[in-house]
Amino acid sequence: MPYIFDELEDPIWRMLSSVKRPSRYAGGEWGADGGLAEGKERSSICLAFPDVYEVGMSYLGFQILYNMASGIPGVRVERAYCPWPDAEAYMRENRMALGSLESGRPLSSFDVVGFTLQYELTSTNILTMLDLGGIPLKVSERGEKGPIVVAGGPGAFAPEPLVPFFDAFCIGDGELLLPDLLSFFPARSREDVLRGLAKTEGFYVPAFHEGGSVRRRVLMDLDGGFAPSGMIVPSSEIIHDRVGVEVFRGCTRGCRFCQAGVVSRPVRERSPERVAGIARDLLVMSGYDEVGLVSLASCDYSGIERVIDLLGPDLSAKNFRLS
Ligand code: SF4
Repeated sequence: MPYIFDELEDPIWRMLSSVKRPSRYAGGEWGADGGLAEGKERSSICLAFPDVYEVGMSYLGFQILYNMASGIPGVRVERAYCPWPDAEAYMRENRMALGSLESGRPLSSFDVVGFTLQYELTSTNILTMLDLGGIPLKVSERGEKGPIVVAGGPGAFAPEPLVPFFDAFCIGDGELLLPDLLSFFPARSREDVLRGLAKTEGFYVPAFHEGGSVRRRVLMDLDGGFAPSGMIVPSSEIIHDRVGVEVFRGCTRGCRFCQAGVVSRPVRERSPERVAGIARDLLVMSGYDEVGLVSLASCDYSGIERVIDLLGPDLSAKNFRLS
């Protein structure tokens, strides 16, 4: 029987009727335009989150980097998440490659695939995504073609267990590292990019590392740094289903056992005026009615009362909620 809609000829659409929570793979969310509305593509990056959609879409870091990359001229930015086992089985059975949500491009066709290492339990998901995306698992098996596979986030501070699988590690704040990474494209060869990154502060490139420690890149002035003016609004429920605005980095408590507190030192606060401005912009742009103040310990934010004062009129007049 012929399909009623042409879309049903697309293998992705056929998969959607066979898996749980098809919205995980549908894409098309508000704000997910990937940048590069016009002009020539100079570089492409796929932000890859090694967990399912509703977990990955709750990660504020990718919202910031996506918004930032989509504003860089010539850069195409897209996203991929780890499929749930039912979708993975369907893809393997039907020989489908893992592609981005925006265009379905296989991971292997991007210039850069950038994973975030939020917790070690997802390490095996990274291998699943590389394999499904058509990228050889090991650096030693990758030829001249194919993307540079990089990793950032807290897990990149202890990179050695994952060295066989990543071409480079990004150490520090993504707002500083991402533009430097993309500046190497278009490139003559993978080796040119990796040699260039190895000489750039904040990048650890195991194949070309000449010894010594890698200095972490730290964005000291959050007010002066990049602030997102847009976000991707999921079309189905996710775990943190609201606008998120980062109020500070680091943590005032300094618990000795805490990796997150140590790798994000020192404490750097965003001003209440900036926090309120970003919150207002994103609430209007997204249609959400709730904004969360995000950090490692937001109750320690010294500007919290001022933010409430500044947002108060909007909170009461428009029934916005603050969490
Ligand atoms: S994030 Fe929590 S555990 Fe870590 S230093 Fe801050 S208060 Fe301590």
